[in-house]
Amino acid sequence: MIGIGWDSHRLEAGRRLVLGGVELAHPDGLGLAGHSDADVLAHAVTDALLGAAGMGDIGQRFPDTDDRFRDADSMELLGQVVADLGERGFAVVHVDATVVMERPKLGPAREQMRAGLAAALGVGSGAVNVKASTGEGIGFVGREEGVAALAVAMLGAQSE
Ligand code: MG
Repeated sequence: MIGIGWDSHRLEAGRRLVLGGVELAHPDGLGLAGHSDADVLAHAVTDALLGAAGMGDIGQRFPDTDDRFRDADSMELLGQVVADLGERGFAVVHVDATVVMERPKLGPAREQMRAGLAAALGVGSGAVNVKASTGEGIGFVGREEGVAALAVAMLGAQSE
C-alpha cells in the first residue's frame, strides 16, 4: 500500500521552526504557525501513512478544534498513528519526503530528521529519506510566507 501526504504552514515571528522533530533557527527568527507545533514534515509523513492505510487524514485524526492538540508535539502524534497502524497489522516499509523551504538550509539537521522519523516509524534510517528543495524565490515558499512538505509512504503487512 502506498500513500501521499502534503502540508504547508505559514511562517511568522514568535513561533518555533520544527521540522521532523528538529528545531531549526531561521535567519529572521521566523517559525511555523499552527494549532500544534506546526511540524509540516511530520504532518506530511503522518498523512502519507494514513493515506496508505486508508485511514483518512490528519485533520480527522487530530482535529485543530480540539484543545488536546494545541501546541502538540507532532512527532508524538506520528507515533500514535504508527501504533494504530501496528494494531491494524501494517508495518512501515519506506518513507520518502521533501521539505520545500527557502531558508535555512537543512544541512546537518537532515540526518537528525531522518533518524528521528525512523525512530518514530519503527524502522532503520535506511528506510527513511528526507530531501530539501526551495521555492527559487517564487510562490509562497520563495517569498518566505510559508514552508511546505510532501511525503510518500509504503506500508506492508506486519511479519509475525
Ligand atoms: Mg499541518
